[in-house]
Amino acid sequence: MHGTLNLVGFLRSSSIEILRQFRQQRLAKYLLVFFVAACGYPERPRVIYVANLETFRPSSPREIKTVEQALAAIITVCRDDLKFPPVRTFEANLYKNSQSFSSYGVDWRMFPTDVAHMAAFAQETKIHVDLQKFNDDTGWATFTWLLAHEFGHTIHHEVSGVIPKTDAWFIEGFAEWVAAKVFDALGWEDYRYSIHRASKHTARQLDNLPNLSDLSDLQTWYRIMMANYGTVKTYSFGLVAVDRLLQRRNLASAIPLLSANAFAEALGGSVDALNQDIKSYLARHQSKSNLDEIVQAPHWQIGDKWTFRLRRPGLNSLVERVLIRTDTFIGIPSYVVKSEAGEAFYAMDSLALLAQMKNGEYEYRVSNVDQALSWPLRTGKEWRNNFTREIAGIKGTRMAQLTMTVSDFESVDVQAGRLKAVKIEGFGNQSGRLNVEYWYSPKAKWFAKLRKYDRDFSFIEEELVSFRVQ
Ligand SMILES: [Zn+2]
Repeated sequence: MHGTLNLVGFLRSSSIEILRQFRQQRLAKYLLVFFVAACGYPERPRVIYVANLETFRPSSPREIKTVEQALAAIITVCRDDLKFPPVRTFEANLYKNSQSFSSYGVDWRMFPTDVAHMAAFAQETKIHVDLQKFNDDTGWATFTWLLAHEFGHTIHHEVSGVIPKTDAWFIEGFAEWVAAKVFDALGWEDYRYSIHRASKHTARQLDNLPNLSDLSDLQTWYRIMMANYGTVKTYSFGLVAVDRLLQRRNLASAIPLLSANAFAEALGGSVDALNQDIKSYLARHQSKSNLDEIVQAPHWQIGDKWTFRLRRPGLNSLVERVLIRTDTFIGIPSYVVKSEAGEAFYAMDSLALLAQMKNGEYEYRVSNVDQALSWPLRTGKEWRNNFTREIAGIKGTRMAQLTMTVSDFESVDVQAGRLKAVKIEGFGNQSGRLNVEYWYSPKAKWFAKLRKYDRDFSFIEEELVSFRVQ
């Protein structure tokens, strides 16, 4: 599943809203009977078999335009890189619209109950995809994750013959693990980062986290998933649990755990013991600093210069940024920083990125200020950061609704050296998922490192290579 996709957007709405939508879905099925008489039958799905899919290895989600290509990419790396067992009878049923999809008879009480995945679900070695939900422009990274997750369920079925009566946390955690490995193999997001991220936002919910034993049956899984921060407490927790199981047993792969005996052996003792182990592991991920330090906003000077290494899927390059003048953007006094990408305007009081111009045209601008930083910085400080960014390259806008928090002071090793930094984390207001991480260095007067998840390019990372500030 998930990410900032619509499906998760769907989950972000309140649970009441979700229940309402569920009832509507049910209702829709009955209403369909009437529509059928009036409008004809919902269309049969288009079926894709493994043999129809060519080898495809997109270096960036931008290269993907269709569900077929996303599936081809997933199956290519599962077969060639990850050496996962082949799902010989795999087929994908693509439904042209939601009416056709729901007419198939999505029964949410059946395994797997991927409510989060209203756009797709798996059944035995088939996956069913609602193309209507795939046609928005949020980018293919999140959809590819979702499809890889569903493909994970088909691997589970293929290996086990049937999906055995395993705990829900393991079934879903395993599917998430497959998605994380697919992203790693594609070079889109390092597996360690996926686990780091899941651990971070699961740890943030530690006090409200269910016990693993609560997540054994599907009804409870369901109920928890539909509550606040539901995907974090179920899917992410499941992923962390599977990874923890692998770490404890020094296993490189979760595939062997699909055998009930191997699973029981890896578990070693009880689910409760594993639960305790994970919770103490997560407690270590909670940031608790007693430092009383306060960091004030810096003053940049004309000529200040930073060089970053920028990594995102399919790209690894150096970016040089130089402060060339001061100006105003919609009346806000700004520093203008020049790079190959154009001129970027940063608010002088907050260092918020306001806009980026190239050849006199806006490439990027925000409708309200992106408060990545809130001065002065001190541990434990929290603030809301809601803004909309317009991006010319994708001809679209993206909304961010984040809760930012200064989590800690820590030393960070980057090419520019070991820098003391203030760690700032941004979590989705509704989802609770970790979306951005910044390491602000007072010495460099700018970020020593940053990571952004779930962007159009999937995952973005920047690291300071060198700097010269006055
Ligand atoms: Zn699932």
